[in-house]
Amino acid sequence: MPELRPLVAVVPAQHQHEGAGFGVYRPFPVAGFDQLDPFLLLDEMEPVDHAPGEARGAPDHPHRGFETVTYLLEGEFEHRDSMGNHGVIGAGGIQWMTAGDGIVHSEMPSRRIRTEGGRVHGFQLWVNLPIEAKRVRPRYQSLDADEVPTVVGDGWVARIVAGSMLGADGPAETRTPIGYAHVTVEPGCELRIPVPDDHQGGIYVFAGAARVGPDRDALPTRSLAVFARGPGDLMVEVADDAPGPLDALVLTGRPLDEPVARYGPFVMNTRAELVEAIEDFNAGRMGRIAATGRA
Ligand code: MN
Repeated sequence: MPELRPLVAVVPAQHQHEGAGFGVYRPFPVAGFDQLDPFLLLDEMEPVDHAPGEARGAPDHPHRGFETVTYLLEGEFEHRDSMGNHGVIGAGGIQWMTAGDGIVHSEMPSRRIRTEGGRVHGFQLWVNLPIEAKRVRPRYQSLDADEVPTVVGDGWVARIVAGSMLGADGPAETRTPIGYAHVTVEPGCELRIPVPDDHQGGIYVFAGAARVGPDRDALPTRSLAVFARGPGDLMVEVADDAPGPLDALVLTGRPLDEPVARYGPFVMNTRAELVEAIEDFNAGRMGRIAATGRA
């Protein structure tokens, strides 16, 4: 059996506010941990039961140079963009947007939830694009829960959102070699995840608590385990006497090892490219969302 990959860090998520004022738990980027290359950002949208008229999202804003991925656990989420794409996903669905050369989008709880209220819980992940793909034509993929393959093991279940993991392939077409899964592990059970040797890996726990890696380091709720580069399986286990199952996201990817220049919604390789992105957005070259049909 392959070795288990050692840990290099456990990073607690920081709570902060995003968009029009909704709370997120952010394991990265935070001070001291900038990225899990090729992943630039992970936000857990704080699970909230919204009253009618209260649900907030992220109205029209641009992106360039990477991909934004929404994976929804509860509620409904609505996407619109300047390419004319529109989609609503429910629980278990995925919105995968390749911002590439530049796009303006809005990401909001659905009109029904904004009007009637309801619970929303999900994730946003930013996947970096390699230098040669930073300015590809923007693209939007909307995937429903029934398109996401489920792998069932001894005391665990994995939903494969993207890439190849645990023998299944996620439905999203990706530009950067990655794996993205949502795993649930029962008390007293362990899950070993084979990962390509050249992928970096991380596990973010959002419910329950785990022990990870060869030394069974404690991984509390809302923290990220960062594994060493190199060979070995990722391992997560749950204590026999845990009060409930563990829910976690597993992220693996081949590091780009390229320079990262960030400014808000733009992630490029150089500062000059950031200035160009800001100028292009201000000049309207990333488009705008048509008013037609807007809720
Ligand atoms: Mn966005």
